[in-house]
Amino acid sequence: MKEKKILINPLDMYYTGGFEAQSQKPPGIQGRMNPVPDSGEESYIGHGRLEGRKALITGGDSGIGRAVAIAYCREEADIAINYLPDEQPDAESLAELLKKEGRKVVLLPGDVSDENVCNEIVKKAHQELGGLDIMALNAGMQIALEDISNLSTHQLRKVFETNVFSMYWIVKAALPLMPAGSSIITTSSIQAFQPSKDLVDYAATKSAIVAFTRALAKQVADKGIRVNSVAPGPVWTALEVSGGQFPDKLPEFGQHVPLKRAGQPAELAGVYVFLASNESSFVTAEVYGVTGGDHTS
Ligand code: NAD
Ligand code: MG
Repeated sequence: MKEKKILINPLDMYYTGGFEAQSQKPPGIQGRMNPVPDSGEESYIGHGRLEGRKALITGGDSGIGRAVAIAYCREEADIAINYLPDEQPDAESLAELLKKEGRKVVLLPGDVSDENVCNEIVKKAHQELGGLDIMALNAGMQIALEDISNLSTHQLRKVFETNVFSMYWIVKAALPLMPAGSSIITTSSIQAFQPSKDLVDYAATKSAIVAFTRALAKQVADKGIRVNSVAPGPVWTALEVSGGQFPDKLPEFGQHVPLKRAGQPAELAGVYVFLASNESSFVTAEVYGVTGGDHTS
């Protein structure tokens, strides 16, 4: 029998080499990346921590959202995932994996930069899951740009509508449906705290997400609903190879952090599980960094 590994060195537990320069059209397909990111397909082991829970995960087809979807299902939640229609191949491979494991996975393609779509996905998730008590708001877009003078109003609007406005629309639609004990988890970024010069629009949306999370947490505390955020550092995902980084910067992606490598989506799942579960019953209005050492404050 293979010996169980007790100690795992974080420096070399994942890919540490230079990434191949590669590029896809946004939003990008995870299954076509080299190497394919690890969203925990083979590794995440559940312990019933979300038994009977019902979760909506936006951007759930790939990357961090996919890792959250796998973890929530293996912790015995039923889930609905939203993603863009172009991402059907990633969504289907995920649904196939999780349905084989006996979980309910509702697929809700749609563009969350549209308010009507946000209302619709909340309504459908609630209907098809028979309730809604976890929301992992994770959909996001990022397009690197050297010079603000080239930032089109179209991109500016799209990035704010996708990353920020969608949270307001989804939360407005969902709150009346969410019972006490529910948990809302947003996805901020190291960019809210240490913004890069090439991400003037994106970084501002991620700061907005922090303020939204903290204000909303205080507003809904009386309802017994907790709201927290996760702030990832550099994580190897489709967003990064589809315009999020300049392709010539991809080979060294993540190597600047103290742990000297990019994170993998699977390394984010545990925090999203903790924040969704009753284990975090006294935690609200917090932002959890998962950054490889590039701390958030
Ligand atoms: P990803 O590309 O795998 O996931 C992002 C998802 O957002 C896509 O799969 C897509 O389904 C969804 N999305 C984008 N635009 C959408 C739209 N208009 N309508 C509906 N869905 C839309 O990449 P990821 O890195 O896992 O991104 C997940 C979150 O993590 C994002 O909010 C991102 O900003 C954040 N984040 C990522 C990193 C990183 O280094 N990868 C770092 C910090 C924060
Ligand atoms: Mg995707």
